[in-house]
Amino acid sequence: MTSLIEIAPPPTPYPTTSGRLIDSFGRVHSDLRISVTDRCNIRCFYCMPEQGAEFAPVSSLLTFEQIVRFVSASVPLGINKIRLTGGEPLLRPKLPELIAALTEMSAIRDLALTTNGVLLRDLAQPLYDAGLRRLNIHLDTLDREPFRSITRRDDLARVLAGIEAAGKVGFHSIKLNAVAIKGLTEQDVVPLVRFGRERNIEVRFIEFMPLDGQQLWSMDRVLTADDMIAMLAQEFGSLAPVPDGDPRAPATEYEFEDGDRVGFIASVSRPFCLNCNRLRLTADGKLRYCLFAREETDVRPLLHAGASESELQSAITSTVWRKWIGHDINRSSFVAPQRPMYSIGG
Ligand code: SAM
Ligand code: SF4
Repeated sequence: MTSLIEIAPPPTPYPTTSGRLIDSFGRVHSDLRISVTDRCNIRCFYCMPEQGAEFAPVSSLLTFEQIVRFVSASVPLGINKIRLTGGEPLLRPKLPELIAALTEMSAIRDLALTTNGVLLRDLAQPLYDAGLRRLNIHLDTLDREPFRSITRRDDLARVLAGIEAAGKVGFHSIKLNAVAIKGLTEQDVVPLVRFGRERNIEVRFIEFMPLDGQQLWSMDRVLTADDMIAMLAQEFGSLAPVPDGDPRAPATEYEFEDGDRVGFIASVSRPFCLNCNRLRLTADGKLRYCLFAREETDVRPLLHAGASESELQSAITSTVWRKWIGHDINRSSFVAPQRPMYSIGG
């Protein structure tokens, strides 16, 4: 898929004089999410079909050298935060080598990885040794049967072993990501937060978004941040929004009276598009300014042809300049993206 709409050229000169990657609404971009594979070893129903998921040919995936070149070009534009994701990023062979290369880039002040945790038990140590310090581990439920029915795999024990291994090798900044679905995960909200509080792990609930590629999403299946805050307050006592939270972070954080925190990525009930500072690079080299974008820029041919840093930078700046004001999930005009979540990179 190349660009699906006409590309408006950026203004000349493009307003990056201060090294900032700014869009036409004045939003400054510093955060790049990189998918390293679209494959996955489980099949969460809200992200991937059970059968027949379509994957990009392995030969079309960006190499580590191409990813590093892309990041090097984006750093002078102000990118300083990177999250590696997928598909399941731990399926990408030799991932610690990429992590080591990114860790060496001093301008990257924050490097994180999002994983389903299934392979983490054996990979936690090599990831840590390569320099990774921040992990988000995806876990929707602590019960085996619901886990199996959500993911279509019986791997809960492996995920729990992965979380334990990560703590043992020294990861102190672990967060749990849980997708919140009305009529399905209400009974998991309190146990997950209790599990996290017992281990000093913050849980982040992500409202179910229309990225399943199978039209399973509907507004009445979204368990909202407000619903969950009420459940948690009933169990643990009052919780209040964290003062001075980073307005550009996707999660709104709340604090219990003892200082423990819980986060909500409330993309549906409280869209945060006006503060968005994120760009996404898919495993096959498509640059996207939004999860829900209906266009993307194919940077792989540029990387393949050995484009210069300035050629890469103009692809990045023009993509950011075209960024829309935000998604319309709450409107009837909303059109779900052609790519499901696993193929974009969450
Ligand atoms: N496989 C890894 C994982 O599951 O963490 C990384 C990729 S996954 C696409 C990234 C995140 O997307 C997951 O943590 C999951 O919580 C979230 N996610 C996937 N599909 C979603 C959907 N339809 N709505 C909301 N969040 C979703
Ligand atoms: Fe795989 Fe993550 Fe998608 Fe689940 S959410 S199917 S673990 S890529």
